[in-house]
Amino acid sequence: MKRLRWLLLGLVILISVLLVNMLRFSSKQLTDVPPPPAVSVGDSAVQRLVKALQLRTVSFTDYALTDTTQFEQFLGLLQQSFPQIHQQLKRETFNRYGLLYEWKGSNSALKPILLMGHYDVVPVIQGTQNMWKKPPFAGLIEGGFLYGRGTLDDKSSVMAQLEAVEWLLRTGFQPERTILLAYGQDEEVTGFRGAQTIAAELERRKIALEYVLDEGGVLKTDGIPGLNQPVALIGIGEKGYASIELTTVSKGGHSSMPPKQTSIGLVAEAVSKLEKNPFPARLDAGLDQMFTYIGPEMPLGQRLVFANQWLFAPLIKQIMAQSNSGNATLRTTTAPTIFQAGVKDNVLPIEATATINFRILPGETVESVAERVREIVDDERIQVNVLKKFISQPSPMSDPNALGFERIHQTIKGVFPGTVVTPYLTLGGTDSRFYARVCPQIFRFSPTPMNDEDTQRVHGTNERISLNDYQNMIRFYATLIRNSQR
Ligand SMILES: [Zn+2]
Repeated sequence: MKRLRWLLLGLVILISVLLVNMLRFSSKQLTDVPPPPAVSVGDSAVQRLVKALQLRTVSFTDYALTDTTQFEQFLGLLQQSFPQIHQQLKRETFNRYGLLYEWKGSNSALKPILLMGHYDVVPVIQGTQNMWKKPPFAGLIEGGFLYGRGTLDDKSSVMAQLEAVEWLLRTGFQPERTILLAYGQDEEVTGFRGAQTIAAELERRKIALEYVLDEGGVLKTDGIPGLNQPVALIGIGEKGYASIELTTVSKGGHSSMPPKQTSIGLVAEAVSKLEKNPFPARLDAGLDQMFTYIGPEMPLGQRLVFANQWLFAPLIKQIMAQSNSGNATLRTTTAPTIFQAGVKDNVLPIEATATINFRILPGETVESVAERVREIVDDERIQVNVLKKFISQPSPMSDPNALGFERIHQTIKGVFPGTVVTPYLTLGGTDSRFYARVCPQIFRFSPTPMNDEDTQRVHGTNERISLNDYQNMIRFYATLIRNSQR
């Protein structure tokens, strides 16, 4: 009887704590943001974007394949399209096609902001051209949508930022805070020629930035699990990238008298061990921040759960791990992507190699991932090598309480009323990672409304943007520049 009483008391305390936490779990959404003024650029802005899309500024892993005349023409197009910018702003080029513009502010005590993007695009996969409703480099409009490679990733951002600045210049706006615009020519392959070079130069000049805004988050019009309304996802960090090769070499010989395990079996077993031992699930790389923004907007049940992460973290992890996208935001992912071994069905393989791609959660490193792989494989017959050709450390995490996040948040609320704003973790890589040494506050967001279906169009077929959405992008950047003056 006494035990039951204690149990009941404990239960009452627990429920009270859960409820109090939920009641104190207040909304972080800015309210009463007035709609910003419209930007009257009209149809001519669309025509300029059309011309930009018609230029095939395609990036290839083999730089020798690059059609540099297209990049040359793109620079010419910008000069012709934005006369005020090219008269009044300072323009520098990096490795010929990387661009940095400076719009000097009147108050040098304010740290500059940097808006960035890239104007190279991925190729259209051979054989898919005919699946496009409109050819990918024609710049054609149908049903209120402009089709073309780069309409979402990322020429629309570059052009919309320039449209916004050109319009502000025409209206006589003079910034107090310096605005920098940086555009890369090779984001889709490495970013080494563009963003990396520009960031290194800013670092050399010891320029401290207030914040950086790049692509890497969108306005999800169909919401996210548990939240059935538009959600603006602002990347406050991005995952790292490394591929690791597992290799074993054995004697080979005739397959009539095989050893107990051939080199294929050995490497296969190592791969299997890695798949069975996923990296630990963590909420501290963006998810905890995200929950504090989306949690209070959710229905009662979920609100209670997210307000009490101290208790429900294991449950949250378990539910999130069920979907591939949820799992990817939760942990460093392990993806075996290449397996090479054997030449003939009756010959024992000599060398066997598996390549495994890891997307690394902030807080871990390429080195710590390699270390863990060695521990799990735990077999001296297998060599574990990090492929040095392309590695990228996960980014540091930016602070949602920083000025930049607040101004982006405010701008989203003005231009896209009814949207829930939240920080999140960008799963792919962006050019902004090179700026980590110049600025701790890097945010990744394009003001592009997209649903699930649209996200498939990025790097895919029928990439397109609605004309109305494009006008709003311009309005977003113009408003953000204005909002960031203080
Ligand atoms: Zn991109």
